Amino acid sequence: MNKFVYMFDEGHSKQKELLGGKGANLAEMTRIGLPVPYGFTISTEACNAYYSAKKELPTEIELQILEALHSLEEHTGKKLGDPTNPLLVSVRSGAVHSMPGMMDTVLNLGMNDETVKGMASLTNNPRFSYDSYRRFIQMFSDVVLKVDGFYFEQLLEEIREAKGYQTDPEMKAEDWKEVILGYKEIVKKHAKRNFPEDPFEQLFLSVTAVFDSWNNQRAIVYRRLQKIPGHLGTAVNIQSMVFGNMGNDSGTGVAFTRNPSTGESKLYGEYLINAQGEDVVAGIRTPQPIVTLKQEMPNVYEQFVNTCQILENHYQDMQDIEFTVERGDLFILQTRTGKRTAEAAIRIAVELVNEQIISKKEALLRVDPEQLNQLLHRRIDDSFKRNVLAKGLPASPGAATGRVVFDADEAERLAKENQKVILVRPETTPDDIHGIVAAEATVTSRGGMTSHAAVVARGMGKACICGCEVLKIDLKSQQFKVGETIVRKGDVITIDGSTGEMMVGDIPMIEPKLSKEFQLLLTWADAERKLGVRANADNPEDAKKALDFGAGGIGLCRTEHMFMDSKRIPIVQEMILADTFEEREEALQKLLPMQQKDFEEIFEVMQEHPVTIRLLDPPLHEFLPNKEELLVDVTTLQITEGNTEELKKKEELLRKVRLLDEANPMLGHRGCRLGMSHPEIYMMQAKAIFHALTNVVEKGMVVKPEIMIPLVGHVNELKQMRQLVISIGEQVMEERGTKIDYLIGTMIEVPRAALTADQIAEEADFFSFGTNDLTQTTFGYSRDDAEGKFLQAYIENKILPVNPFATLDQEGVGKLVETGVKLGRKTKPALKTGICGEHGANNSPFNFAMK
Ligand code: ADP
Ligand code: MG
Ligand code: MG
Repeated sequence: MNKFVYMFDEGHSKQKELLGGKGANLAEMTRIGLPVPYGFTISTEACNAYYSAKKELPTEIELQILEALHSLEEHTGKKLGDPTNPLLVSVRSGAVHSMPGMMDTVLNLGMNDETVKGMASLTNNPRFSYDSYRRFIQMFSDVVLKVDGFYFEQLLEEIREAKGYQTDPEMKAEDWKEVILGYKEIVKKHAKRNFPEDPFEQLFLSVTAVFDSWNNQRAIVYRRLQKIPGHLGTAVNIQSMVFGNMGNDSGTGVAFTRNPSTGESKLYGEYLINAQGEDVVAGIRTPQPIVTLKQEMPNVYEQFVNTCQILENHYQDMQDIEFTVERGDLFILQTRTGKRTAEAAIRIAVELVNEQIISKKEALLRVDPEQLNQLLHRRIDDSFKRNVLAKGLPASPGAATGRVVFDADEAERLAKENQKVILVRPETTPDDIHGIVAAEATVTSRGGMTSHAAVVARGMGKACICGCEVLKIDLKSQQFKVGETIVRKGDVITIDGSTGEMMVGDIPMIEPKLSKEFQLLLTWADAERKLGVRANADNPEDAKKALDFGAGGIGLCRTEHMFMDSKRIPIVQEMILADTFEEREEALQKLLPMQQKDFEEIFEVMQEHPVTIRLLDPPLHEFLPNKEELLVDVTTLQITEGNTEELKKKEELLRKVRLLDEANPMLGHRGCRLGMSHPEIYMMQAKAIFHALTNVVEKGMVVKPEIMIPLVGHVNELKQMRQLVISIGEQVMEERGTKIDYLIGTMIEVPRAALTADQIAEEADFFSFGTNDLTQTTFGYSRDDAEGKFLQAYIENKILPVNPFATLDQEGVGKLVETGVKLGRKTKPALKTGICGEHGANNSPFNFAMK
């Protein structure tokens, strides 16, 4: 027979999968002798058995519950439903991963018209007993019978007012009796059944209701956000009740063993005297800070402080603890690892090491790398109370304030006038990149965490909110609506990219700073790490920032971003549109000094740190105007028979754009294919690089350049491009009389390159796995189409476990990376390898194949 039910003294903290987090910790606290009201846990396996049996509780499980209940009755000396000495219990959900408030809890179960009388005489407190009863009816009806709590609140208010009371504590036992009668009528009317008086029926209905709450809407949404799998199920804890609402010697509260927002090692929490359960969170009465408990109940306070210390030492981490005091006796109802801000996470981890509770290595694992992002960006002052207008996906952390604009060109224009703007678009395309660069932040109403805007913004360290669907953007009238609120072009908004929240107006910000603890933690990380980390940077400012934050060099300097500058784009277009070789040469000659200056500045900043420069990668049409827009212009000019010269120019441009247009740009004329058919572009770039290097070296600085050829699929491509770079290098070095060491390598971003890496390694000094494109080419998905059209459904239907553009697909793409590294090292044992792409920033175990 399978065991589905465990008494609290049968389990321990390692059994979270089976008992849920709450159950496992209740068992653990019981085991180490803390004052936990006794009870038992119905396992997550029971939850899954319930779902397998099409939401019927198997008899076997029912029997085990009754047996456990019997033990609980013996242990407490009370009996469920016994009018003279009733056992009352709470029914509490508890999943493997903590999902605060997502599922349901029922308190005071076991109360009915008979037991309430027994309670009243046992406690000599009828007021308390009837209050508990009405609470039970309300909670049970809400959770199990799905009667909206509103009806109960409304009735309570009516009765309270009719009696002339301001607050609940003024209600007498007789008043509560009246409320109870009314509550039962509400149940009859809205649940179309009588309130169940039988405690066993109450119990089983509650258990299955908690199982059902695993699949309520908010739990599903929460799991999706937190990437918690849906098959885990929840456990249910049945626990004998203790009462914080028995008078002024009772109370209930919540505390953290350290401050969860700063990390300060000081008890942090609040409590309410004469209150039960959710009253603290519900905000009806304002709770007291935990320190005042010292005056109000000195003995309890001392015992509680000791207990907190025991729990923190036992779990070796900051705990979030729920407690109740019943007539001067302390009970612990829950403990779990406390959620905390990034700042607190760091301080706590470092201080736990100093207190010799955990090791340095453990401290590193205690800080969520994704959370660290919060600390590297300007953020909204936490002490400020936010008035949130809209909420989208927290696509790129950081906070920003600016005037709303709806157009990338306008964003750029205003930014040049030193205005701070926030670009708001339904979505962004590569055409908007200059707007994203110019704006303080970007907001889109469509698209996910890996949409174009999100990826670009994260790449640039700019705040961004995506998929903010409540925004009704009207581009024509240059405004957006959220409900009744209209925000027009030029209005000031503030966004928080770490939470996805948008507020109207200006809000106080704080600049990022690396705390002492953070810097210390980074030195510990350096001692442990097996991978080096380099930054993405295309300009000297970013390069400088990268060095400040401890990057070992630049891993990817994208030369196309240098082309995107609004002053350069016309020259780049000239180069692309050139009909003759001479015309193209002429444009390239204009670009050369610009590129050279960019490189020079970057090399000067980076000096002895390596810089990997990638030669031009995107297809040329990305630098040209949009085809549809051009078509509209041409047609308008044709109809109005206006400026014929302009018309001719535009028609010619349209012809070119059509020529370069690609059905599938992802697989099109880009990367080294571009270098193969337009060697003059790569030659110009190589010239710019070598002249820049020479200038810097002549100033007496050391440089470590690495030149990277993108999108190689066949060794012959690399061979030819490498030769081209080498010949330019030799030419410049001879001309300038300076010798420079450099590496030439390639990006591995198509499967064929990975599969023939042994051949490619013959021509390469290093490999950089471009896993964004490698994911596209391995799956055969175009990223934008996949994310916009079907990927979400794939994940929901469990075709794919996660978004492969966010978390590296180890089984497929990972296998190619592994193969690529192995084959490459077969040819060149010391081959340098790296990963380049967003997966590198993800804390998934992408480094498996790199070691
Ligand atoms: P959540 O997971 O939403 O925090 P809990 O199961 O922890 O829900 O229950 C919420 C609150 O109900 C607890 O913090 C506690 O105050 C109260 N509660 C739960 N069980 C008991 C009990 N056996 N005795 C007294 N209060 C309880
Ligand atoms: Mg709780
Ligand atoms: Mg690529």
